[in-house]
Amino acid sequence: MVAESLKAGPLAERIKQEVKSEVEGMVRAQGARPCLAAVRVGDDPASAVYVGNKIKACEEVGIRSEHHALPETSTTAELLDLISTLNSREDVDGILTQLPLPNGIEERAIIEAIDPAKDVDGFHPVNVGNLALGRSAFVPCTPAGIIELLVHNDVEIRGARACVVGRSQIVGRPMAQLLLQRDATVTICHSRTRDLASVTREADLLIVAIGRTGMIGGEHIKPGATVIDVGMNKVTDPDQVRELFGQAAGKRLEVLSKRGYTLVGDVHPAAAAEVAGRLTPVPGGVGLLTVAMLMKNTLLAARLRRKSKS
Ligand code: NAP
Repeated sequence: MVAESLKAGPLAERIKQEVKSEVEGMVRAQGARPCLAAVRVGDDPASAVYVGNKIKACEEVGIRSEHHALPETSTTAELLDLISTLNSREDVDGILTQLPLPNGIEERAIIEAIDPAKDVDGFHPVNVGNLALGRSAFVPCTPAGIIELLVHNDVEIRGARACVVGRSQIVGRPMAQLLLQRDATVTICHSRTRDLASVTREADLLIVAIGRTGMIGGEHIKPGATVIDVGMNKVTDPDQVRELFGQAAGKRLEVLSKRGYTLVGDVHPAAAAEVAGRLTPVPGGVGLLTVAMLMKNTLLAARLRRKSKS
């Protein structure tokens, strides 16, 4: 069996187009554009790229954006001041703080300071709690995008055995909640799970978010299962690229020689393709949807805030 590749590019574009036309409608009706404020602290190059991609997506869909880049030496108090100002500004609909924050800044205090009505990342305890209660809430963008991808590809969730590997606040936990809301039978695995393969092999729907390059192999996958690979890991060793991609390694080795790295998920691409029914590629899979869903959440925040004020 060679798994079907669940590419997310066209769906991500469609979501952004839908947001764009709704934003234009809002501008025509109310004269105001939704606005996202992105806060970044320090010089982490990966964070700078992620925030840059989010700002670019805002431009594509017509959402106004602000980029607040603070120096590495910033204190928790300074960041809390900025969040407080953004909370009180009428013209700001969504606030995101790019994680991880530098050591020394109290991440939890920052997340909890964001007005839940502007928490477009869905990390505030009020939104986490509402999601756990099955109420409507801002849902973290990566798991929300995965649900869109499954629905778009007619992957049956109701009644399916779903296994989520990883229990982070950003991906694993909210993913499990969303699958439960849609009537899957959900198992959550983590680093202390005994005999991981025997658990994951039961799943019709396997979602992996662990940050371990290619760790999930053919032996972890039920034949024909749908496998969603959330991992994004940089690989710099050509031998590892050959081992991960087998005969398809050629293109990846070209990327590696141009950029110095290639992105690989948490699922072993060559081994999984032999067993799974459907598999998301990395890159070109889940990552594209995360930014599209952030746009959707920002539009939702603008709509809800304006409705509550009218
Ligand atoms: P995280 O906060 O580091 O959490 C990793 C989770 O994996 C933890 O729950 C950990 O278990 C579990 N884990 C680690 N090693 C394991 C093992 N050997 N067996 C079973 N479970 C194991 O990671 P994250 O933020 O969820 O991110 C996971 C991956 O997704 C990373 O590669 C990240 O770059 C990627 N990501 C991609 C996107 C996207 O848009 N595509 C978005 C977010 C994250 P414990 O809880 O027991 O420690």
